[in-house]
Amino acid sequence: MMYADFYRRSVVTPEQFWRDEAALIDWNTPFSQVLDYAKPPFARWFVDGKTNLCHNAVDRWCETQGDQPALIAISTETNTERSYSFKELHVEVQRWAAMMQALGVRKGDRVLIYMPMIAEAAFAMLGCARIGAVHSVVFGGFAANSLASRIDDARPVLIVSADAGSRNGKAIAYKPLLDEAIALSSAKPSRVLLVDRGLAPMQRVEGRDVDYAALSAAHLEARVPVTWLESNEPSYILYTSGTTGKPKGVQRDVGGYAVALAASMKYNFCGRAGETFFATSDIGWVVGHSYIVYGPLIAGMATIMYEGLPICPDPGIWWSIVEKYKVTRMFSAPTAIRVLRKQSPEFMRRHDTSSLQALYLAGEPLDETTSAWIAGELGVPIIDNYWQTETGWPILSIAKGVEDLPTRLGSPGVAMYGYKVRLVNETTGADCAANEKGVVMIEGPLPPGCMQTVYGDDQRFVDTYWTQDGDAMLYSTFDWGVQDADGYYFILGRTDDVINVAGHRLGTREIEESITSHPNVSEVAVVGVQDQVKGQVAVAFAILKDANLGTAEQDIMAVVDRQLGAVARPARVYFVTQLPKTRSGKLLRRSIQAICEGRSPGDLTSIEDPSSLQQIQRALFASL
Ligand code: ATP
Ligand code: MG
Repeated sequence: MMYADFYRRSVVTPEQFWRDEAALIDWNTPFSQVLDYAKPPFARWFVDGKTNLCHNAVDRWCETQGDQPALIAISTETNTERSYSFKELHVEVQRWAAMMQALGVRKGDRVLIYMPMIAEAAFAMLGCARIGAVHSVVFGGFAANSLASRIDDARPVLIVSADAGSRNGKAIAYKPLLDEAIALSSAKPSRVLLVDRGLAPMQRVEGRDVDYAALSAAHLEARVPVTWLESNEPSYILYTSGTTGKPKGVQRDVGGYAVALAASMKYNFCGRAGETFFATSDIGWVVGHSYIVYGPLIAGMATIMYEGLPICPDPGIWWSIVEKYKVTRMFSAPTAIRVLRKQSPEFMRRHDTSSLQALYLAGEPLDETTSAWIAGELGVPIIDNYWQTETGWPILSIAKGVEDLPTRLGSPGVAMYGYKVRLVNETTGADCAANEKGVVMIEGPLPPGCMQTVYGDDQRFVDTYWTQDGDAMLYSTFDWGVQDADGYYFILGRTDDVINVAGHRLGTREIEESITSHPNVSEVAVVGVQDQVKGQVAVAFAILKDANLGTAEQDIMAVVDRQLGAVARPARVYFVTQLPKTRSGKLLRRSIQAICEGRSPGDLTSIEDPSSLQQIQRALFASL
């Protein structure tokens, strides 16, 4: 089918379109209405329909392929590998559901999951979904204050956690962080369920802490029927990554999410039941929710959960997993591929990756150098896809399952079905012409699967994301982009990060892309810094592949001059060995910019390694 026709149908007659897609999942009670958009911008999909995420992910596959693998948990940290068939997963999720019920969890209650990448984390999520409890997964290893603010916002009745995570062979004790977070919070959970991996000693709080091993013994073969939920009841809360400031509690529904994931598994990821999917993300992020846990299982695929670094025990580890489990579709992030590019390709070439049919990358702009490199190594299409925690599934990409449109280097692709994407001029509010830069917006109603509201704060949802445009309402992605004459979009950076040099508006991404095309640059961050004459100037922090090659500031500037013109030339280029990133691998440009302007770096709760900011400080200081 032609994608253009498919897309047109999805936005011109959305109710017909999504009614058909709803058949991809099981419904216990049919819906009476496809869409209720009586109170914009709040969209309600599949009204009165009753379904359940756990049923669609687990139960419905038990009869047809119950003995096939469903969840494969691999840890190179503890050297363990466990595979669960759909039937075994069915047993596990019922056990978890029973345990949570025994601890007082009821439909609509929140359960906070603060867990490493172990199978039990997925059991807990699916167990919640089974009984209609609302999970709120918080990235494991987040500091106590980040965790405390999420506890206060979600007010969980139960927290599920473990003694420790592990990174590079070193245990990271979670329990002391959790205890500290609970002490800091004002909404104290009455129960904490703890999985003891034997990695770090734990102190138990009498009357509150419950040991998984002991409790599960009483519920080994528990039978817990699925709780059928109205499509618009909440399934989970997930906080955005916090790259631009205080994270927002994204609340998602049940039916719309299940249908959107099923559709994306079919049209974007082209996964078939019985095949294996491998997303290298973490369950603490949206990719982990949609494409480690729910998406692949809803499609009847086996999914891989991987705990460990991409380079340990050696940089071939991911490809050995692809080989062993015959992974057909893989999902990762550009930042991880850049890490691999710094390693010898020999490790990758040792493995037979011929089962792999495509690699999907998301999370940050995918630069052409990284994309071309990994495409060359793997010999498969690299599919960029652009989306957000808020949307739950891709906004821009190539839907290969509909039509194999050519990809375009540097572009995540075209608008995905269901999304009425519009580029809007920031000052005039008018729609942009081809090749004119603007803010990426989506005309409401958002398609199924997207956020319903900000948890507990409808007003914040409306105020933060939406603006009125005539009769329509527009959702802002807060990203800045441009569309070419053929409909392909290019994301130029976040709206916060647009640099205004003497009246010329430049996306940080454009300059970064140009700088990474220098053969000796492996990574770069560009920020706009206040300047008395030009208003703002671009300043770059670059990581060199080989510091001994004598690459100089002028060499970098010359590349930008040649490709973008002198107006985009950074005022300074500093060399560092590390860049500040969030734990989800996104550049913290706002903190770099603050330091450059002599301000405090702001909220650093999501930073991966604070010493990276000291490097920025030192680089600036040395140049004074
Ligand atoms: P916060 O909203 O709390 O500041 P965040 O925006 O980093 O955090 P996420 O929802 O995890 O949280 O990230 C979504 C953002 O990541 C997008 O808005 C966009 O800026 C960026 N992004 C994701 N995928 C791509 C992509 N393929 N190309 C370019 N940018 C991307
Ligand atoms: Mg965001």
